[in-house]
Amino acid sequence: MTDSVELVNDKRRFDTEDGENILSAALRQGIVIPHNCRNGFCGSCMGLLHGGKVEYEGDERLPALSEEKEKEGYILCCKAITKGDVRLQVETIDAVADIEIKTLPCRVNRLEKMADDVMLVELKLPPHEEFVFHAGQYLDFLLRDGRRRSFSMANSPLKEGVIELHIREVPDGFFTGQVFNEMKEKDMLRIQGPFGTFILRDDSSRPAILIAGGTGFAPLKSMLEKVRAEGCDRPLQLYWGARAGRDLYFDKQLKQWAEELDCLTYSPVLSEPETADDWPGATGWVHEAVLADFPDLAGLDVYASGPPPMINAIKQSFPAQGLEQGRLYFDSFEYANDGEGSS
Ligand SMILES: Cc1cc2nc3c(=O)[nH]c(=O)nc-3n(C[C@H](O)[C@H](O)[C@H](O)COP(=O)(O)OP(=O)(O)OC[C@H]3O[C@@H](n4cnc5c(N)ncnc54)[C@H](O)[C@@H]3O)c2cc1C
Repeated sequence: MTDSVELVNDKRRFDTEDGENILSAALRQGIVIPHNCRNGFCGSCMGLLHGGKVEYEGDERLPALSEEKEKEGYILCCKAITKGDVRLQVETIDAVADIEIKTLPCRVNRLEKMADDVMLVELKLPPHEEFVFHAGQYLDFLLRDGRRRSFSMANSPLKEGVIELHIREVPDGFFTGQVFNEMKEKDMLRIQGPFGTFILRDDSSRPAILIAGGTGFAPLKSMLEKVRAEGCDRPLQLYWGARAGRDLYFDKQLKQWAEELDCLTYSPVLSEPETADDWPGATGWVHEAVLADFPDLAGLDVYASGPPPMINAIKQSFPAQGLEQGRLYFDSFEYANDGEGSS
């Protein structure tokens, strides 16, 4: 049995299969609804029901859907299952709609520790296979037991044949533990992607502030590599927050990039600088450094990626300091929910 979803914005329609969530169905049929964690945490895929019914698996409230919002008719497309035909108001992003989501085997080509808890994992694609993506998107590793783990591509999409990832080791993490303790070059893995809508919007020429927390730098590096290759038409100010100097694993190169590129400014921020750092720069939380430097955020675009607490703090504090609605783009590194497949 299939149900039909009509988008009230532009009258496009797509079908959902039995038990398939609205986001997966839309992506399968080339319609890209904004999404990030695909797990009910981040709220990127929120839409407003204009007709029909949906339901969710399980009894637990989805973190990004308050009771109030649900009563107003809002749904989270990544978890909502249609119960009959529905009419839905939701943003769509055509810039990534042309990209095919693929499932591919790949080989670990290179492993390199970039910081105590960050591993560069370079994957090699099968010969003659392409993995087309937009800078800022991410992939899922499909693990043998059915679990998935998401990581952002850190290289420019213009680089062919390999994919670079920056993987932070999570204490007691199932997959990241394997990456640090067991993974070897030539190991085979399965990936699926690309996913995500965290991409530099080229319909804006406003100055952009890019904020990375830890390995949240990965998708921004991908964007900046592309900018280095193609040039940029607007000022970009990168803030990178880490604990201590040794966690800024790409600091030297970034300083060089900022010298080469007129449009790029780079501001590292340390939350726990060590004596050895002899740190002359900003300290504290990275988003607070941005707030201190920009008393008025009106007229700017903000792209932020990294740990959920950083993203939540930005969501809460930046609008109060003038950031206009719809000008915050984010990639929240939420954790996987192993309870069910998050496709
Ligand atoms: C869209 C997206 C893109 C991402 N891109 C990147 C990336 O480029 N680089 C990167 O390093 N990470 C990235 N992440 C986060 C990454 O997916 C998780 O860290 C990873 O799934 C952890 O897997 P695990 O099996 O090691 O941990 P699990 O076994 O799933 O978790 C073990 C425990 O650690 C907690 N935990 C899990 N992940 C984290 C975390 N990130 N921080 C703190 N506690 C955690 C869990 O709640 C659990 O208690 C991204 C996440 C998303 C949603």
